[in-house]
Amino acid sequence: MDNQKASFVPVTQPYLPPLAEFTPYLEQIWSNKWVTNDGPFHHQLEKALCEHLGVEHISLFSNGTIALITALQALEISGEVITTPFSFVATTHALHWNGIKPVFVDIDPVSMNLDPARIEAAITPQTKAILPVHVYGNPCEVEAIERIAAKHGLRVVYDAAHAFGVQRDGQSILRAGDMSVLSFHGTKIFHTFEGGAIVCRDAETKQRIDRLKNFGIVDELTVGAAGLNGKMNEVQAAFGMLQLKHVDYALAARARIDSRYREALGGVRGLKLHEIASNNTRNHAYFPIRVTPEFPISRDALFEQFRARHIAVRRYFYPLISEFVPYRDLPSASRENLPVASEVSSEVLCLPMYTMLEAVEQERIIEIILSCAAEAKAA
Ligand SMILES: *Cc1c(COP(=O)(O)O)cnc(C)c1O
Repeated sequence: MDNQKASFVPVTQPYLPPLAEFTPYLEQIWSNKWVTNDGPFHHQLEKALCEHLGVEHISLFSNGTIALITALQALEISGEVITTPFSFVATTHALHWNGIKPVFVDIDPVSMNLDPARIEAAITPQTKAILPVHVYGNPCEVEAIERIAAKHGLRVVYDAAHAFGVQRDGQSILRAGDMSVLSFHGTKIFHTFEGGAIVCRDAETKQRIDRLKNFGIVDELTVGAAGLNGKMNEVQAAFGMLQLKHVDYALAARARIDSRYREALGGVRGLKLHEIASNNTRNHAYFPIRVTPEFPISRDALFEQFRARHIAVRRYFYPLISEFVPYRDLPSASRENLPVASEVSSEVLCLPMYTMLEAVEQERIIEIILSCAAEAKAA
């Protein structure tokens, strides 16, 4: 039993630098006696992230979901918003918490992102914005989305929770649209245990966002809007400063893991790897594969093979957001409206991908897939 426990492989694992490296940061906070509300580390991290990411304005948050909710608030979006069903459920929850009606549009089978070719058909007089997701850190076709948004006078907010550090055509992907929202949750590449941020285009908008995340407070005597509490505290921000020092190391480790998976699984019949267009950089946030009907066993059978060996692969994203209780009765949630997303969701499997994944563990994972492919062939 102990052996089995020791050999458990999670699908993801937060990267934690040596604890001793964090101690000086904590001592600094203790000596500052400033624990939250735009403290020194909060200030430092906003500046450092702007430089690292190549953006001008960033506002830190306690988590990505509150950041998403606030981004929509800051743009005063109401009515209907077009979005993807193939994402983490927080994407749609952020619309729900703003009283906005989500309108699901199908995805592209290769990129697995919102399909720009299907957006216009879903626009109604109530449509105010588009909320796409750069799924697995793979950028959306932002140029096509921008054209549609401009033509119909719509706002665009990107859920960029997976897209830390990603560039398209040599520019940060976070510069696309009106705003981009990041998550710094423990499972993400760059994390602050919990955390998030909004990237916006000008100082005035940042000020509006900064007020909204602090109850809408303008000054001692003035509350200008019904804001909420989305502030990142100093421990989170200090950890972010430390984490930033290690992010290149984390990316390099993930890149190695990614190429090993590609080398071993690229030629396996019935498996489709996630291909990313050459004008996009990759951050190796996830390693999704599609287990198609040409593979000898089903996605769910393969999933069970991993489970039996204590390896936590994930069917991510399955079920679709549109299949969950709060959303499944929406007209746009029907399977007929979302054939591609339904198919992808039934085939996708995310393999373990994290900075400290060991080579021997990765070989075990690869071996399971290869032996399923071979055994079924022999049978
Ligand atoms: C992680 C994630 C979020 C939510 O971020 P939290 O920081 O966990 O609140 C939103 N959207 C997507 C696509 C995510 O993966």
